[in-house]
Amino acid sequence: MDQGLSSRPQISHIIDSVLDLLNIYNERFEEIQEELRVVQPREAGATLMYLSRHSEKQPTCFGCPHIDWKRTGLTGGKGEKFLTLRRITGNPVMQVRRQGRFLDIHDQVQALIGEARDLEAEKKKFTKVLGNLSRMISYRFDVPEFGERLDLYERGEILKEHIILRLNDIDHSLQRWSQELNELQPGTFPLKVFLAFRRCSRGCDFCPHPHWAIYRKVRGESGETKIEAVRVEKPLVSLPRNPKDPEKVDKIRSIVRNVQSLLREREGYSDKVSSLTRMYRAKFELAHR
Ligand SMILES: [Zn+2]
Ligand SMILES: [Zn+2]
Repeated sequence: MDQGLSSRPQISHIIDSVLDLLNIYNERFEEIQEELRVVQPREAGATLMYLSRHSEKQPTCFGCPHIDWKRTGLTGGKGEKFLTLRRITGNPVMQVRRQGRFLDIHDQVQALIGEARDLEAEKKKFTKVLGNLSRMISYRFDVPEFGERLDLYERGEILKEHIILRLNDIDHSLQRWSQELNELQPGTFPLKVFLAFRRCSRGCDFCPHPHWAIYRKVRGESGETKIEAVRVEKPLVSLPRNPKDPEKVDKIRSIVRNVQSLLREREGYSDKVSSLTRMYRAKFELAHR
């Protein structure tokens, strides 16, 4: 098995699809921003949308641009008056002006703001997961490019590349630890702790899936005893309490602990990728119903 060359096309594909979706949200935000500017009179009481970007200090953000809602007001003395902007706190939909020239467009303005808010909430579900993934990556790798001002797709490329690198790395280590466990416990005997690898029916990018197993003695139908592998969640429990060779068992225990932390990390990636896939599918199944 050559894990080193695994390209994991499904992971790349779902991240690309989600980025396209984010792009659609962002384009719609720009249109709504413009529409709100055009439909409302240039006087106090207009609700305007502002889009802002994080600085380079927030390199793991996939949510930029973010929405701010502002309300125009009037300032100045007896003479000249100026339009001012005040940030709206709370739900802007509930605060749309209805008086004067705003009366006729009230419903339209409210609908535009409502649409933006709904899309923003949807977008956040995706950007939260992407943000988690990029934090996992920046914890492992020093990725200087992440710190520069990059567009969504450039950040996406860095993210995909490093997730795949890290997963290949993890799988490579798992193979190595698995081999070492077998060398420490040669043969097939009850309570032997080992890593088993299973391919799922979908043949996903996380195949083969590693899990812990031990051998145990079972009685066959005709009364004979045989040895079979069973899946276990806590392999350390199966290790002998008073071993004949404590040094060897210590070694096994430390390998198991190393592997446990790799398995947890691997699961972290796999959980996040499947939640992106689930949300993406749900979104389009809903749209096509
Ligand atoms: Zn941001
Ligand atoms: Zn699989």
